[in-house]
Amino acid sequence: MLEKVLAERIDELKTKKIFRALTILESAQGPHVRINGREVINLASNNYLGLAAHPKLIAAAVKATEQFGVGAGAVRTIAGTLQIHRELEEKLAAFKKTEAALVFQSGFTCNTGVLECLLTKDDVIISDELNHASIIDGIRLSKADRRIYAHSDMDALEKRLQECGGYRLKLVVTDGVFSMDGDIARLPDIVKMAEKYGAVVMVDDAHASGVLGRHGRGSVDHFDLHGRVAIQIGTLSKAIGVLGGYVAGSRRLVDYLIHRGRPFLFSTSHPPGVAAANIAALEVMQEEDLQERLWANARYFKKGLKELGFNTGNSETPITPVIIGDGAKAMAFSDTLLENGVFCTGIGFPTVAEDKSRVRTIVTAGHTRADLDKALAAFEKVKKKMGLS
Ligand SMILES: *Cc1c(COP(=O)(O)O)cnc(C)c1O
Repeated sequence: MLEKVLAERIDELKTKKIFRALTILESAQGPHVRINGREVINLASNNYLGLAAHPKLIAAAVKATEQFGVGAGAVRTIAGTLQIHRELEEKLAAFKKTEAALVFQSGFTCNTGVLECLLTKDDVIISDELNHASIIDGIRLSKADRRIYAHSDMDALEKRLQECGGYRLKLVVTDGVFSMDGDIARLPDIVKMAEKYGAVVMVDDAHASGVLGRHGRGSVDHFDLHGRVAIQIGTLSKAIGVLGGYVAGSRRLVDYLIHRGRPFLFSTSHPPGVAAANIAALEVMQEEDLQERLWANARYFKKGLKELGFNTGNSETPITPVIIGDGAKAMAFSDTLLENGVFCTGIGFPTVAEDKSRVRTIVTAGHTRADLDKALAAFEKVKKKMGLS
């Protein structure tokens, strides 16, 4: 029965021409990658600063692995907290300018873990409609009531807050940078509104850490809102280049999560090498001007795409979508780009609305101008070839 059900579902994906095999990389993650034996320009990763294969991170991972082994051996609360895990958390708290920070296995588990345990049936979560899937799942796991507001619509947010007078805790949650469109949350307005109605704010800076703010401290630093956002989520898997998620906030917040955050309590902690590479990443971000190179590249590439007449939506960050519309067409666009030496993934439903399918591009600090010019030439060629307007 299972196989029959699966076959039907897969056929449906195939009919819509959105069934995809995974693209296998035969090289390290970087500005260029090898796919099917051929080197192509990589615009598909979240490796904004090029840290995923940075020599200092590799050296730190190797050294910690030799010293402490490949596995942590237990969940954090039982025997899985090594000194190096604590050191990373102290560095993250300093990075985010908060009292404390707590690391989870991934950004995904961090969001679900925090949202599930923090809010109860007496509380309410107010969430932007375009928030990341892990926020949505965290809200589903929580017993709190929920309200959704239209994307970045401050009037809609205010209406939701007005409806929620009777609750004990009101939490407004937003992505800092929206992962599919690359627009920045209107955090100063959100914070002001939350303060007016006695709500607390949680921002998920998965795509903002390493990208926005001084030395990549994220959207709270970018807007100078330190002390006014109670819960900051970050990922270590994107710009930081390694793996993991963390929450930064008060000492009390972290103390509570250590006792009630389910992924923290019931899933094993990172290998020592992962913690060490993350620590090295935070150091490299202070030392090197990777963020400036990232932004210079992003501005150049975005301008180039616009000049070619592509619809890049409301992007304000290095995430630049090229919105095609139809799902099958977006996938064909991505395939043809790859044939022409550029790797950027087609993205359709359920990640974005069905009629807003796209290829998403993210340039990194490691791309050269020549890479970007070559990529733009490929976009132009494929656009003509497919007859896109
Ligand atoms: C990618 C992403 C996550 C998940 O982070 P991982 O560390 O990859 O699990 C969470 N939130 C947002 C907004 C993201 O873009």
